[in-house]
This record gives sequence, C-alpha cells and structure tokens, in this order.
Amino acid sequence: MTKVNITINGQQLEVDASMTILEAAESAGIEIPTFCHDPELTRVGACRICVVEVAGARNLPAACTTPVSEGMVIETESERVIKARRVNLQLIWANHPQDCLTCEKTGSCKLQDYSYRYNVTGSPYQGEAKVFELDNTNPFFFRDLNKCIYCGKCVRKCFEVNGAGAIEFMYRGFNSKVTTAFDVPLEESSCVMCGMCVDVCPVGALTPLQGLHNNRPWEVEKVLTTCPYCGCGCTYYLHVKNDKIVGLTPNFEGPLKGHMCVKGRFGWDFVDSPDRLKTPLIKKDGEFVEATWDEALDLVASKFKEVRAQYGPDAIAGLSSARTTNEENYLFQKLLRSLGTNNVDHCARL
Ligand code: SF4
Ligand code: SF4
Ligand code: SF4
Repeated sequence: MTKVNITINGQQLEVDASMTILEAAESAGIEIPTFCHDPELTRVGACRICVVEVAGARNLPAACTTPVSEGMVIETESERVIKARRVNLQLIWANHPQDCLTCEKTGSCKLQDYSYRYNVTGSPYQGEAKVFELDNTNPFFFRDLNKCIYCGKCVRKCFEVNGAGAIEFMYRGFNSKVTTAFDVPLEESSCVMCGMCVDVCPVGALTPLQGLHNNRPWEVEKVLTTCPYCGCGCTYYLHVKNDKIVGLTPNFEGPLKGHMCVKGRFGWDFVDSPDRLKTPLIKKDGEFVEATWDEALDLVASKFKEVRAQYGPDAIAGLSSARTTNEENYLFQKLLRSLGTNNVDHCARL
C-alpha cells in the first residue's frame, strides 16, 4: 500500500494514499463533524459540514471526498473552518423547527451537537420557511420532513444497502424533499420497513414510534443481544429503562453492519405482552389449564410412548425452529432420534 506524509493540526502522519482527509483524521483520533457521510455509502460531499483548510487551496474542501496527497497540510478547526461551519449550521436553522425541548432526537442529534460545539443558537437568515405535514401513515416510524437537513443518507441506505429504492429526492430547489415515487405513503411504495433509513438519519426527521415520549438516550442502558427471529443472527442493542425495553439500535459494528429486517427492528414489543405463556398449559375438559413442567413433560412422554406403541416410531415427527440456537437444535434432533424417528424438520423462516 502506497503511503503519503501529511500534517493534520500540526500532527505529522504517514497514511495510506487511498485515504480521504476524513479517514486520515479518524485514523489519528481527530474527529471532523459529518452529516451526510457513512462509510458504507457512496461519498457525496453534500452537507459541507466537514470542510477543512488545506494549505495552498483556495476553497475549503470537503474532508469526506478529498483524497490525501504527499505533503498536504490540513487544519480541521481553524478560524476559517469554524466560520464556514457556523454559517452552514445557521443556514440549516433558517428552516428548521426549534423543537429540541420535546424532539425525540435530543441527546443523539448531530445538528444539536454541532450547534452546541460551534455555539450556534439560531439563524440570522430570514425568509420563507417550508412546512410539511407530519407523515405517520406507517405503523413503525413517522417522518417529520420539517427537520430533514437533506443529507441524503436515508436515500442512499435504502438504495445502495437495502436495494428497495423506496425513497428519493423529489422536486427542485426550495421545493425538494425526500419522498417515495409519486409521493405516495411509504406503505404504498416498495419500502419494506427495515428501518435502516431511521437508524442513519442524523436528526429527528425519522423517528421510531415505539418508545415515544418515554425515554431519553442518557436514561437507557444499551444491552447487546441477538435477534431471536430467524437464523441470520443479527445483533443489536436493546434500550432498557426501569427493566423494560423501550427501544433498539442496530449493531453497526457487528458482522451484518446494522442491517436488519422489519421483524427484528420493530417486532420486539412482544417481550412484555400479557399474552405470552408463562407456564405450560394442558387441555382438560376442553379448556387449557396451567400446569407444572413435570406434569407437562410426563404427559408428552406418555403420549409419545402411546403413539410409538400403536403406530411405530415413524408416526412421530419433530418440527424445530431457526429461532433456537444450534445447540438446542442439536439436542432436539437427538431427542427425536432417541425415540426412533428421523423425521426432523424446521421452519427456516417465520
Ligand atoms: S432534529 Fe435535532 S436539532 Fe432538530 S429539533 Fe430535533 S433535536 Fe433539535
Ligand atoms: S424503511 Fe427501509 S425500505 Fe423503507 S424507506 Fe427506509 S430504508 Fe427504505
Ligand atoms: S430524512 Fe434524515 S437521513 Fe434522510 S435526508 Fe433528511 S436528514 Fe438525511
């Protein structure tokens, strides 16, 4: 790998020649703000919050799209850079509701964080403001396009990673917005409700409906776990507050890089459902009644014996599940084979 020597904020570094300024800075632990950048997506350099000063360059290049070169001298927090970032933020605030007090994104919002970092409290730019109706037409998340900052991450995630291509920028200039083809509700588009757009949105434009108004990011404990639905084994963080699950974040560091389907992403509220079984039930006189595990297991064992004695072991079959672990499935087939049958199958999908 070809290397180049560069200087960032006075720090001399030898980095891969294939890197961008942003990647080189990150490799040295120097954080440059970004809205539209995602290492998994095409680089677009659209939001301009990552501009940096490069000695000898007339303008301020975007760190996420500018490759490093031999001898480059870069300043990531110079006076000029900070001024440009402040103007950038003020332009966003010129058409952004000041809703931080009640916004679900408070505490994990990049616009809020960078405004705090660069002491931007609003916008000196006055003019016509766009007003979009809140879109709560799907059961999983709502879209508040008044808070959209046009980073385009949702669009690229949906197209480049999910492949659904359900959303795009529509209309031009002042009228542009992220929406579906023909501006129909998401439910009527090719959207599969995977929620990936929600998870990459840097602001409060896309918000899960679950856990609304009952938790803040600093109030929850994030517990890493594995999705129980299918055999893919996606991992994610459950947000736990007062021993209750109130939300979920995909595990972007895991092997599947945070990709999830609608079941895993939004289908976790069954955990606290009052309909869940807590004890075995045995039907007596046409009614299910609660039983102990010993009673239930004795009953199942006696029924197996009856069936085997009357019809032979091939009359018994076992259907397991991809929701269980490899070890549980191994034990399951051992159990069935110990009863004399090889009739073992499973439902790979639900
Ligand atoms: S999206 Fe961010 S900046 Fe906008 S209101 Fe919500 S928390 Fe505040
Ligand atoms: S939920 Fe998934 S499929 Fe639907 S718009 Fe978002 S990224 Fe695309
Ligand atoms: S909805 Fe969110 S992710 Fe999509 S363009 Fe707007 S701010 Fe970016």
